[in-house]
Amino acid sequence: MADAVPVELPGRLAILPFRNKVLLPGAIVRIRCTNPSSVKLVEQELWQREEKGLIGVLPVRDSEAAAVGSLLSPGVGSDSGEGGSKAPGGSGGESTKQDTKNGKEPIHWHSRGVAARALHLSRGVEKPSGRVTYIVVLEGLCRFSVQELSARGSYHVARVSRLDMTKTELEQAEQDPDLIALSRQFKATAMELISVLEQKQKTVGRTKVLLETVPVYRLADIFVASFEISFEEQLSMLDSVDLKVRLSKATELVDRHLQSILVAEKITQKVEGQLSKSQKEFLLRQQMRAIKEELGDNDDDEDDVVALERKMQNAGMPANIWKHAQRELRRLRKMQPQQPGYSSSRAYLELLADLPWQKVSEEMELDLRAAKESLDHDHYGLTKVKQRIIEYLAVRKLKPDARGPVLCFVGPPGVGKTSLASSIAKALNRKFIRISLGGVKDEADIRGHRRTYIGSMPGRLIDGLKRVSVSNPVMLLDEIDKTGSDVRGDPASALLEVLDPEQNKTFNDHYLNVPFDLSKVIFVATANRMLPIPPPLLDRMEVIELPGYTPEEKLKIAMRHLIPRVLEQHGLSSTYLQIPEAMVKLIIERYTREAGVRNLERNLAALARAAAVKVAEQDSALRLGKEIQPITTTLLDSRLADGGEVEMEVIPMGQDISNTYENPSPLIVDEPMLEKVLGPPRFDDTETADRVASPGVSVGLVWTSFGGEVQFVEATAMVGKGDLHLTGQLGDVIKESAQLALTWVRARAADLKLSPTSDINLLESRDIHIHFPAGAVPKDGPSAGVTLVTSLVSLFSHRKVRADTAMTGEMTLRGLVLPVGGIKDKVLAAHRYGIKRVILPERNLKDLAEVPAPILSGLEILLVKRIEEVLDHAFEGGCPLRPQSKL
Ligand code: ADP
Repeated sequence: MADAVPVELPGRLAILPFRNKVLLPGAIVRIRCTNPSSVKLVEQELWQREEKGLIGVLPVRDSEAAAVGSLLSPGVGSDSGEGGSKAPGGSGGESTKQDTKNGKEPIHWHSRGVAARALHLSRGVEKPSGRVTYIVVLEGLCRFSVQELSARGSYHVARVSRLDMTKTELEQAEQDPDLIALSRQFKATAMELISVLEQKQKTVGRTKVLLETVPVYRLADIFVASFEISFEEQLSMLDSVDLKVRLSKATELVDRHLQSILVAEKITQKVEGQLSKSQKEFLLRQQMRAIKEELGDNDDDEDDVVALERKMQNAGMPANIWKHAQRELRRLRKMQPQQPGYSSSRAYLELLADLPWQKVSEEMELDLRAAKESLDHDHYGLTKVKQRIIEYLAVRKLKPDARGPVLCFVGPPGVGKTSLASSIAKALNRKFIRISLGGVKDEADIRGHRRTYIGSMPGRLIDGLKRVSVSNPVMLLDEIDKTGSDVRGDPASALLEVLDPEQNKTFNDHYLNVPFDLSKVIFVATANRMLPIPPPLLDRMEVIELPGYTPEEKLKIAMRHLIPRVLEQHGLSSTYLQIPEAMVKLIIERYTREAGVRNLERNLAALARAAAVKVAEQDSALRLGKEIQPITTTLLDSRLADGGEVEMEVIPMGQDISNTYENPSPLIVDEPMLEKVLGPPRFDDTETADRVASPGVSVGLVWTSFGGEVQFVEATAMVGKGDLHLTGQLGDVIKESAQLALTWVRARAADLKLSPTSDINLLESRDIHIHFPAGAVPKDGPSAGVTLVTSLVSLFSHRKVRADTAMTGEMTLRGLVLPVGGIKDKVLAAHRYGIKRVILPERNLKDLAEVPAPILSGLEILLVKRIEEVLDHAFEGGCPLRPQSKL
């Protein structure tokens, strides 16, 4: 270990050459000597000496290194042969060049070296050759400069002079403020290096001690000696005899080392971070796989794709589509499950695999008689409709691929359109699928979204086929009249393609992007009204109208079809619940006023639910009874509550009480129960009378998508400037009718005795307001013309309109009454409302043939040609027309 006291340097030193290496003072090296000249040197100068001697270590440069070395100065200290050469001492940085004995390669000696002492020696003899080698641990002590180099036997000896300062010189130099600053800076840098090293390996405690005890000029050497720096830098450190130069050089080197450590550390951290992330993922995946294997749950992504491929192979795709699918599958294989496109690509392939490319339901030999029976069994009445369906089926039987027209059932809700379509499917032994088109405004709903959109999906048809999983179902296009077109395209034109037998063989869904054959599908459509269906679409369809049922028909449907079905759906039978015909009639009259039977069915279901609760209660009471044998049961209680007579039964001792109640008497629906379950009646016959109780109100008949309806028209007058106000969500046609009606009434005011003379303005300082309740339902059409006139005449004449009379008809400016549509529905609606007289345009007479005879017989039908006749019928005591009127 280097100590603070400078060593005694002898005048001559045996020289050990260090090839391309420098021993700095304070440094300790372990060298192995095998070269005969160095072995000789070690043997003579160190091994054989009693007290440990010193040797000089002098750097030697290779010839090639010398060729580029900055310190080379050829010519200086030229050849000296055996006799040795005299090198100019003290001129730092010069080197002594000396040829080897045999004049081969010249040796480039550095002119400065370091005196060293051996800390440890060990001698070895190589076995067969007997060659001696030494391992020497050397410690550098102090710098010297070579005055003269000469050979002693096989090694060199040099006359040297000391370069380091003496103790007093040192003490003086230490006072130099520059040196103080430099040494402080060095120490700070060194300290920083130590603390960085400390974090890495906790074994630098000793170095820290060094920092406190060893003089700074020696520390500089020790620190630099411990780094791996280039030979040139080592040499220049060796040459830095001046303390200030040495310190600043050392500070620079220490700092550089420190920075390189920091940079290296940063890089390692980064690399480690990345490594550990992927390693972690790998490890987790391994674990997951192990867990799945353990659970026998082997459906990881890879297997999934294999399963998908198998499914695709079995899907029976046409060859070109199979090719397309394989291409997509290859893409999927290249993707990671976390990748954005993966799931959409997968969903697409799943769809391709699920679609029924080949799968069909086997069509049996069609038995027309059985089909008719089945239709009769499921549906009451509808004779014409059923006949048309049988014809349709017969054509299919004779020519299975006949491109017959598409059947379209048109009628109000609940008249059996859907159930007829499903009966067709049953008769043909095909699967049935209903596709709702109500509210479809976007063409993409039919044709799908292109896959470039996020969240894109196939259209409803392809989706429906996937769900039904056969390519030849009966597909019901429900509410085809409710599609509309807007900026997002025209769904009707897409439907046109679907229904066209020429085009639907290669139906192109945007999402699917490959053609799909729809030609095996049997399409049936439904609509509430014919009017909104675009004509080209209507052209492809054969319309079958279902106008709605009479109360008698409804009663039959309820008794034969609805009640048994509702009971079954609620787990009941007639042993538990009976709904007498009279009660069903009441439900039809008081709780439903509809063309179809949907609400009727709903009300029956409500009764069945109420009954089911009671039956369930009884059940549990009886089960309880078996154990504790109660004398009174809930059944008795409930009878009490219902106001039934209670009979006390005497139960003989020993008889099992539960047997008594095995067959409980059925619950029979009566009027109080109706009110209890369904609430107070919603409609009654007095409604019309109440509403026309004041002048200005008349009763019209209109036609809506729910069938025929009674439409009241209310008119009132108030102070104003002769304006006409109209409310109730009216369309243009109905607004014009109102205008027309007002004009006609004003023109005939005198004739109608509404004003004394014809020159008096009816609207003089008053406004008229006409309203059509219900205000939220949009209304349009010309058929309210006669009703409007009646209402205005009633208003101006202060006479009430007859409550038992309803009317419909378009009128002209001249007062003619023109025929209108939907007569059957309108007459049925009037009948439902309990109206007794109906005023109709004469030219609608032919339409009355459609109205069931029982309804007609209960109504007085008044056919009219002119509006005056309407007024005559509408008012009690006829119309007050003047005899001189110009009719
Ligand atoms: P829509 O499709 O016309 O709105 P649905 O076909 O859904 O009506 O019919 C509603 C309910 O009424 C169904 O339960 C149906 O079976 C029943 N229904 C309608 N008409 C008849 C009928 N003529 N005979 C038997 N049940 C009928």
